[in-house]
Amino acid sequence: MDAEHAHTTPRPVPLSLGATVTTRGPAAQLGAIRTTGGPRPTAPSHEQGLAHDADRNREPGGALGTDAARDPRAPQRDPRADRLLGAPQEGGLRDRFGRVATDLRVSVIDKCNLRCTYCMPADGMPWLPQSQLMSTDEIRRIVRVAVQSLGAEELRITGGEPLVRKDLEFIIAGIRADNPDLPISLTTNAVGLDRRAQALKDAGLDRINVSLDTLHPETFAELTRRPHLDKVLAGLQAARAAGLGPIKINAVLLRGINDTEVVPLVDWAVSNGFEMRFIEDMPLDGDRSWSATNVIPARDIRAAIEEAFTLTADPRGRGAAPAERWEVRRPGDPVLAGHVGIISSVTEPFCAACSRTRVTADGRIRSCLFSHEETDLLTPLRDGADDAGLAQIWRDAMWAKPRAHGSDRVGLARADFVQPERTMSAIGG
Ligand code: SAM
Ligand code: SF4
Repeated sequence: MDAEHAHTTPRPVPLSLGATVTTRGPAAQLGAIRTTGGPRPTAPSHEQGLAHDADRNREPGGALGTDAARDPRAPQRDPRADRLLGAPQEGGLRDRFGRVATDLRVSVIDKCNLRCTYCMPADGMPWLPQSQLMSTDEIRRIVRVAVQSLGAEELRITGGEPLVRKDLEFIIAGIRADNPDLPISLTTNAVGLDRRAQALKDAGLDRINVSLDTLHPETFAELTRRPHLDKVLAGLQAARAAGLGPIKINAVLLRGINDTEVVPLVDWAVSNGFEMRFIEDMPLDGDRSWSATNVIPARDIRAAIEEAFTLTADPRGRGAAPAERWEVRRPGDPVLAGHVGIISSVTEPFCAACSRTRVTADGRIRSCLFSHEETDLLTPLRDGADDAGLAQIWRDAMWAKPRAHGSDRVGLARADFVQPERTMSAIGG
């Protein structure tokens, strides 16, 4: 956090969402806090910056070893063979470390209409061909297996950008028809949501998370490489009018780009009844330019918020949720203003409590965001596997889930961390 900005007297800036945002000093002039342009800084060594976190988390490979330890000349065998020993043949999605996956994230498309610098290259990615994307019915079937055979308790639909799929309303309506009580949420950039929020709500969507990293049009255009801040705000307004809620706002802070916006974002969010969530920048970007030293650590984000608000740990606790949640109050005011969440995947990993299982838009199970392995569920489904067969493939995949961060070692800033081939947009965040 820029100390100079943090201590400047706030002043309100009207935004088109019907509320005011309080920002500070030069930031009040739209775009004035932009400090850099062009590509993100190149990566220094992993040992720098967060090295102490890596040291704290570094542990021996253990009996299960690591991917890097395999001899490439060894005969071909299922790389999961050892890890599949003891896999359950019934019940839910358990793994070797005692975790149970009940939180299902399904990506419905890898394409996106924005190009956030921390996620995608400027030219986009090689998109999946249509024939490899799960169809409406295939997504519906996979969710039904997860909920009815494997105990999934909640669903988040993500991408790429889910709104790019014209059949999103049909996907949600089908899932809702099969699973009347399933909480269904959507992670979206909200571009185009103004025209679809009501239909999505009517189809059975409960709540949304909207990615919004800045309140300044110029910074938005630089960060997403598209000039669409007004569309996002219109989408948020429509979502609120349609009764989608709670609405959470996801922001990734980038040093020198939007890191002076912590307090204005919290102020704007709580003023509008949204929960603000800050996500530490993770090594899942398409440009492969992530650097540990550029990560704004959760502790700095908390400290920045506390310069303007009083934070109290949310009494509901965290459970398996990725975000550490805080109650937000304005100084001297005992009334609860709202909540803020901080997702500290890099500096304070929470892998031990992870309850997530993911399916990519081409129907592959990923047991961990950072996995180097995927399990194809779509081919067996298309080849006629029954629900019991699909459920067992899924159980096996999750039993082999790595302990942390794609291997059996904790820490994204550790020297031997290898970024997975798929990037965030291709996995589904
Ligand atoms: N397009 C939708 C959106 O942006 O909300 C859904 C997909 S996006 C991949 C899901 C979430 O991943 C977003 O909240 C985004 O901010 C986050 N994300 C993308 N790349 C990230 C990275 N390198 N580190 C941390 N979060 C990232
Ligand atoms: Fe698209 Fe979401 Fe990635 Fe931004 S974060 S490029 S909106 S998929």
